[in-house]
Amino acid sequence: MAFSINIPCRIYSGTGCVKAHGTEFALGNRAFIVTGKSSAKLCGALDDVCSVLAGIGVGFEIYSGVRENPPVTDCFEAGRICADKGCDFVIAIGGGSAMDAAKAIAAFATTEYAECTDIFDYSKKKAPSLPLICIPTTAGTGSEGNRYSVLTLPDGKRKRTFSHDDSWAKKVFLDPKYTYTLSREYTFSTALDAFHHAMESYLSPKSDDLSRMLAIYAARNIWDVLSQLPEQFSENMRASLLYASCAAGIAISVTGTGFPHPLGYSLTLLDGIPHGKACAAFAADYIEYNRKNELGETLIGEFCAALGVKVKVLGELLVGLASVDLCMTEEQIAEHVELIKSAGNYANSPYVLSVDEMYDIYRKHFAAKRKRGNC
Ligand code: NAP
Ligand code: FE
Repeated sequence: MAFSINIPCRIYSGTGCVKAHGTEFALGNRAFIVTGKSSAKLCGALDDVCSVLAGIGVGFEIYSGVRENPPVTDCFEAGRICADKGCDFVIAIGGGSAMDAAKAIAAFATTEYAECTDIFDYSKKKAPSLPLICIPTTAGTGSEGNRYSVLTLPDGKRKRTFSHDDSWAKKVFLDPKYTYTLSREYTFSTALDAFHHAMESYLSPKSDDLSRMLAIYAARNIWDVLSQLPEQFSENMRASLLYASCAAGIAISVTGTGFPHPLGYSLTLLDGIPHGKACAAFAADYIEYNRKNELGETLIGEFCAALGVKVKVLGELLVGLASVDLCMTEEQIAEHVELIKSAGNYANSPYVLSVDEMYDIYRKHFAAKRKRGNC
């Protein structure tokens, strides 16, 4: 019955919160605004931020070059641009890709690392990162509520996470209206990601009373929405998903994530499956393997009871929502598993998955169809 938490960021929420708290954007003289290709403009957040900055006399540069699953190489270059433009703080507007990239850019702007991958070695950091403001436009990663930045390595086939103490956003603005333009498919996928954060956090050996409370709050609210299989997401649903995903992001700041995350990384980078769906493809396996362990069985039971859903049904429904339909040869399965088998997440569940079991899971999902001649 104890907890320990450090959430060093100020979170504002509600429709219109950016303009309502405009003076909070005065973190420096010149902002480096980091976005993806078009969503920040499309959803209205970029215009709101630019008008707030103009109103308080803060200059800005817009960098709209963030790609999905941001490559560390891109962030390295963007960090130099940020420094060359004389920007002294960073504003991320977008999904997990823009927010994670912004954390890396804020670090690259102040430390001239010899190699871009040096960012993963905390001992090579020479100066604090630039201050960061996060404005999520997806309800999924919860990156605004933790210090993680998940980047794609230069080989384009693996992801790696850094989590510097100063990578937390100083301020966060949660405006559900910015998520209205997200497509139905991405809304489901990002909600599945947030749900997985909640579930994997709840089962983590590092969880405590407070992180479990956040995880249950998040899971319940997300499940309430997803289980309705909405054709369209109402404003209330959008708000509920956004606040829940932030809470789940804070929960994983305490615990980290479990094995669906690394298992999913290969599906994202090699097969183009969006992150949330790639994690949820392994939801039933996560539940099944953890139930082999007494503690895992208890925690899954508690988690499902809090949601009012039967344990077996939960896994099936999540896998159904992910609807990942891939067919792989044995060589392809080996390529996928070899890329993710050394991730740190496997120790972060009551049941610790072996490499053989990773192969079993991949074969069960992706080779079985080949045997039946379906591909
Ligand atoms: P994303 O990669 O940030 O964005 C996916 C797509 O959605 C992009 O095409 C983006 O367009 C578009 N989009 C974003 N917001 C939109 C909006 N409001 N309206 C219309 N389109 C919108 O997706 P994500 O799932 O949020 O982030 C995934 C990344 O986060 C992965 O790299 C994953 O590994 C990472 N992640 C991080 C954490 C963490 O704790 N730090 C946790 C889980 C996952 P634009 O390109 O135009 O912006
Ligand atoms: Fe995730």
